[in-house]
Amino acid sequence: MTAVLESSGLSKRYGRRQALTDCTLSIPSGHVTGLVGPNGAGKTTLLNLAVGLLQPTSGKIEVLGGQPASSSEQLARVGFVAQDTPTYGGLSVADHLKLGAHMNPGWDNELAERRITQLGLDPAQKAGKMSGGQRAQLALTLAVAKRPELLILDEPIASLDPLARREFLQVLMEATAEQELSVVMSSHLVSDLERACDYLIVLVASRVRLAGEVDQLLATHWQLTGPRCDPAALPDDWQVISASHTDRQSTLLVRTSGPVADPAWAADHIGLEDLVLAYMSQPAPQPARTATPSMEAQR
Ligand code: ATP
Repeated sequence: MTAVLESSGLSKRYGRRQALTDCTLSIPSGHVTGLVGPNGAGKTTLLNLAVGLLQPTSGKIEVLGGQPASSSEQLARVGFVAQDTPTYGGLSVADHLKLGAHMNPGWDNELAERRITQLGLDPAQKAGKMSGGQRAQLALTLAVAKRPELLILDEPIASLDPLARREFLQVLMEATAEQELSVVMSSHLVSDLERACDYLIVLVASRVRLAGEVDQLLATHWQLTGPRCDPAALPDDWQVISASHTDRQSTLLVRTSGPVADPAWAADHIGLEDLVLAYMSQPAPQPARTATPSMEAQR
């Protein structure tokens, strides 16, 4: 399966501030990918690198097999809605559609007009006089009607009401199933992403902590409860994501590809939201150091 976004060792620094560090990803096509992480994690930076608004400090990024924004063909294949859902305040809804038709070779006017009608937007209304949510809907309509192969959305649904959010995510899921569309979208609304996304990236403190197909991630993470344990005595193929202990009991979130066979542990699957929160609250990994004999002894 081809990748819609492929990066290797991708880093971006603003002055002394590291916004993205050594980001290596391969997002397969045909997915709705959720990009989540705390404020300042680097999500917008990654998406802006993917659309060519930023240049990497080091490393590489390819989108649909090409350099971001390297040609008009490449631009036509990628739709983007930035975090502030930019529209032209002095132009009406109808003007925006005309502009979209003029600028995009694959423009689907029927789709654009149908969405504007469904959303109840007045074609004569100027964008500057619309609510934030209505402007977001207009910007999203323009991006979808461009008929891109990849739609990149930076927190697109935050300003939409709950019904509009659900409807929009439904449109995205249908479009990926019926057309050749892939979506990468950042959001803090994990419960919404849970419904729509089948690929997940968790970015924390400028680094990718977790990436993969949602089904696979959920199948390989276990919430375990059992008698208080010595972490050093756990099986080698268990990656402990979080652990809490009382005097008598341990509760672990563990990643492992195999089944949990030890009957001492009660094993439950975990939901996407809890999985994301566990990775978001994981302490930052320590910089790699050469193992010394005393460090080896602690393992
Ligand atoms: P949020 O969820 O709050 O939108 P984010 O995950 O999108 O955050 P980014 O906007 O990518 O995070 O920011 C990543 C880091 O880079 C932050 O520490 C931020 O302060 C810094 N940063 C972002 N843009 C700039 C800039 N133009 N100049 C300097 N630092 C910046």
